[in-house]
Amino acid sequence: MNIEKLKEWIENSGNIVFFGGAGVSTESGIPDFRGEAGIYKTVSEYGVRPETILSHTFFMKEPEIFFDYYKNFLLYPDAKPNSAHYALAELEKRGKLKAVITQNIDNLHQKAGSKNVLELHGTLYRNYCMKCGAEYDINFVINGENVPKCKKCAGIVRPDVVLYEESLNSDTLSKAIRFISEADMLIVGGTSLAVYPAAGLINYYNGNRLVLINKGTTGFDSRADLIIHRNIGEVFEKIMK
Ligand code: ZN
Repeated sequence: MNIEKLKEWIENSGNIVFFGGAGVSTESGIPDFRGEAGIYKTVSEYGVRPETILSHTFFMKEPEIFFDYYKNFLLYPDAKPNSAHYALAELEKRGKLKAVITQNIDNLHQKAGSKNVLELHGTLYRNYCMKCGAEYDINFVINGENVPKCKKCAGIVRPDVVLYEESLNSDTLSKAIRFISEADMLIVGGTSLAVYPAAGLINYYNGNRLVLINKGTTGFDSRADLIIHRNIGEVFEKIMK
């Protein structure tokens, strides 16, 4: 069984890195805005695709619509970590897992107890004033006016997430590359690896334990040393038993 093999590899590895995508969060009830349903709902409600609303240009031009979408489609403050999040936190505690690299912006890895989390696309939990740089937490945005404004200077307070057309934080990216290139095992989960920079990052892995856990097939299946086409929460639940 592939899950038995994964379990065995984890037991024999001491420098595991996990790379995760939207699929890790969907099992916590956070829908993938890039998934078919997400695109359909966004187009029918706003007349444009999610990538358009979540672009830098659109944000600057139509902040009211951006924040409306943001609050209705991206913010899930009540979401709870699932078995995958908890298992990864536990593996870190045991000293086996060195980093979680995630494309998600929902803070669920930290909620589960993970310490070294590299958030490639930023986080909804940090917000800052575009004018003076003052920082605000998520509640300020949730409870504030439609377009949240800085209490000090009235500038727009935006989430510290990477919008389309914006570049990734270079420090986070270089850390991710370092962890991946030094890993003896790389587990990739909940992503089809279609979104930049996921595919490129996987190429930095030098080892022979590349594991892909994803419901559907990915463009990297042929490169993987182990493939499990199942829900990631279910897989980790079995592993940790
Ligand atoms: Zn300000």
